[in-house]
Amino acid sequence: MVSDENFRKVKPYVPGEQPKNDDVIKLNTNENPYPPSPKVLEVLGNIGNSSFRKYPDPEVSDLVQALADYHNVKRENVFVGVGSDDVIAMCFMTFFNGGKPVLFPDISYAFYKVWADLLKVNYDEIPLDNDFKIIPDDYFKENGGIIFPNPNAPTGLVLGLDKVESIIASSPKTVVIVDEAYIDFGGESALSLIDKYDNLIVTRTYSKSRAMAGMRIGYCVGSAELIKVLNSVKFSYNSYTMSDIAIKTGIASLKDEDYFKQTVGRIVDTREKTKRELNRLGFTFLDSSSNFIFAKHKDIDGEQLFNALKKNKIFVRHFNSEKIKDYLRITIGTEDEMKSLIDFLKRYLGYKEV
Ligand code: PMP
Repeated sequence: MVSDENFRKVKPYVPGEQPKNDDVIKLNTNENPYPPSPKVLEVLGNIGNSSFRKYPDPEVSDLVQALADYHNVKRENVFVGVGSDDVIAMCFMTFFNGGKPVLFPDISYAFYKVWADLLKVNYDEIPLDNDFKIIPDDYFKENGGIIFPNPNAPTGLVLGLDKVESIIASSPKTVVIVDEAYIDFGGESALSLIDKYDNLIVTRTYSKSRAMAGMRIGYCVGSAELIKVLNSVKFSYNSYTMSDIAIKTGIASLKDEDYFKQTVGRIVDTREKTKRELNRLGFTFLDSSSNFIFAKHKDIDGEQLFNALKKNKIFVRHFNSEKIKDYLRITIGTEDEMKSLIDFLKRYLGYKEV
């Protein structure tokens, strides 16, 4: 029998549930409830057989160029991957190889710890303050790199650009990654600092604001030096990461700014409305700048509420870790979906008017 002594042993990241049936209200993985731009669907309709038959462009040059144009940077400043998970994993592999600990918040995107463990990267989880805020000063110390999401997940709280900059500036010799998966829903992007700091990487995704989680497109922007090393590692690992379909639809999405702004605006409006409703029902929550709300009820246990919602085919996310176990992370769905959520909560919590 094979021995496991040579195996890599890891505790994997657990993604949110993806139910097979469409009869649930799915507010558990921060997907966009609206379709992608009609321009994306049009391009998809015209995909020919060569997109299947041939290997895709390993350099992903057209999408890289389109993203460079979109963000007003050079193509040398852009790296793309199969979702920002792929991009961030590549960044861990490329930039976090010293013995000193990589710093990230203790309550944050749970994948950071998993990648660090997988790649045997030393790390230090920096506690958030009692209001779940990142304290920049705590990052002003020796490190092997820094990564944090802005807005943070699952809290949804945004850190002001001046504070983000203070963290980047305090570690000029190590790479600081700002994970902007949710920035389109609120907050100020660190992209404006790319020219100023050669140690900065900003990661972005098509999965949330561009309604393209299924297409798996992510990218990052950074100095030409950093992007060059990142590409060397990528081409030492897997050259053909992105399908031609992802490349073409990714470009199409960038060409429909009106639609993009409109859907993001709708989600932000629904988020603010949902905050008011949740407040009335006895929830407290952090003031989210993202496409989800991290909320807890004054009387009812997080897990109990999670199960009650699930039984009624409303999926949200619950994390079973000590500091946040009272909370539910609720993705912002359509107006109708949020109405169903609120109606259910009213009934469940015993409110009379529904
Ligand atoms: N960063 C954060 C903070 C996230 O919440 C997610 C979504 N799970 C990702 C990165 C990765 O998203 P994707 O791989 O779909 O781009």
